[in-house]
Amino acid sequence: MYICTHCNQPVPDPVRLLRGRPLRYAYKCPRGHLLYDRRLLGFTREQSFIASFFNALMACAVILAATSSAGSLLTKSHTAWAGYTLVVFVVAGILVISRALKWEKQGGAVARLVPRAMGMGLACIFAGSGLFAVRLAIHLIRYVDERHLAFFR
Ligand SMILES: [Zn+2]
Repeated sequence: MYICTHCNQPVPDPVRLLRGRPLRYAYKCPRGHLLYDRRLLGFTREQSFIASFFNALMACAVILAATSSAGSLLTKSHTAWAGYTLVVFVVAGILVISRALKWEKQGGAVARLVPRAMGMGLACIFAGSGLFAVRLAIHLIRYVDERHLAFFR
């Protein structure tokens, strides 16, 4: 079910616009509001927490692969690009969760979008901070390893 965040109403039968327009202008509510949310990066359609979580995780993986390979073509240092991307994931996740909390507070039809926003936000934070933690752990292990070897040398 699509939800109009402006009217705070479910839209059972969204108005489909002509083809050839950018995708985000594809659906409108009967009063003419776009059924799109910038923070969700998608249509304001109900989705379960689990489905949203895994969709966002997949999207994060694709974006990370794309930015790090594009970065390595441009600068030969894909790690810095990957690092920036992880920060962007965490920031995007926080923004989506703040939107979810606002909708939850507001109540009504928009509250039905909360599981989707929460799933997406947590997936972004999970992807960003999880990969960051892995990188940190690798650095730490290397550091300890070098110290350890120096001690016995
Ligand atoms: Zn509307």
